[in-house]
Amino acid sequence: MTAVRRLAFLLTATLVVAALPSTALASGGEGGAAAPPAGGGGGGALYAPHVRGPAKPKHHKRRRRHRKRGRGPLLASFRLTSARLFLFGRPAGVRFRIDSRSRTVNVRLYLRRAGGGKPVSTIRLGARRTGVGQSYLLTGRENGVVPQGSYVLRIAARDARGRGLRRSASSSSVAELGFFHHRFPLAGPFSYGGPDARFGARRKGHRHQGQDLMAASGTAIVAPRGGTITTVAYQRGGAGNYAVLDGAGETRDYVFMHMKTGTVVVHEGQHVRTGQRIGEVGATGDAEGPHLHFEVWAGPWYAGGHPIDPLPLLRAWDRWS
Ligand SMILES: [Zn+2]
Repeated sequence: MTAVRRLAFLLTATLVVAALPSTALASGGEGGAAAPPAGGGGGGALYAPHVRGPAKPKHHKRRRRHRKRGRGPLLASFRLTSARLFLFGRPAGVRFRIDSRSRTVNVRLYLRRAGGGKPVSTIRLGARRTGVGQSYLLTGRENGVVPQGSYVLRIAARDARGRGLRRSASSSSVAELGFFHHRFPLAGPFSYGGPDARFGARRKGHRHQGQDLMAASGTAIVAPRGGTITTVAYQRGGAGNYAVLDGAGETRDYVFMHMKTGTVVVHEGQHVRTGQRIGEVGATGDAEGPHLHFEVWAGPWYAGGHPIDPLPLLRAWDRWS
């Protein structure tokens, strides 16, 4: 050791020795100057870093691990059983599974226009079990009837601690949905026919009150709108087997004529869904060949209403049915 270094060492040693009693005094000093504070929290400035030092990283690690374990609920799957939904028709099934350490999570569905914007409908599903498949039947009129069009349905969930839903790599929280207020009354190939099939075409002694749809005998006729069947009857010289439907939530009646004998599956007073089978295309009554004579009435059929041209409606419904 050189003299300078020896001096430096001595100075350092003196400083440390000098510091000890002052620390003991600062921390209270009841037991005299002998015992430096060991481990307790009340240590003086000199000991404090050594006491807290090792504890800090441990605490940090525990918190980080806790955060990881305690992440929000995870969306395992989400889908719609049908991409099309008809007002007053068969509901679309919403199927999902959410995994979480919580037994239940609070689930909501948001229905938005495909173009974006605020949700047109927020559907609160309430507390749903996690870890098992869940389902909901979507009608499109949960909070009043939404306009027809293209929609995006999104699922959201929160656990009791308010943590939001996470998606797994394979799951999507959105599903596309087309919502329609009516559907085309034939489930099968058809044609609109010629001028003679049109509403208003001349007939013997009257004008044609509906639109004729040419289709093969046996083609399924379905309800263009849910509602109540008000008439099921047979008219030999005219309509043949026919039925009248009073549309739900609107002031329209729909009339189906010339149905094939033995195929009419509805009765008076029956409630039907949009798209539910009514009968089959036939040629009963005054018909030259198999076709559906289809009428739309504004107001009740022969009870204050009047027939309107069904073609613009049919052409619109035809686009999505
Ligand atoms: Zn006709």
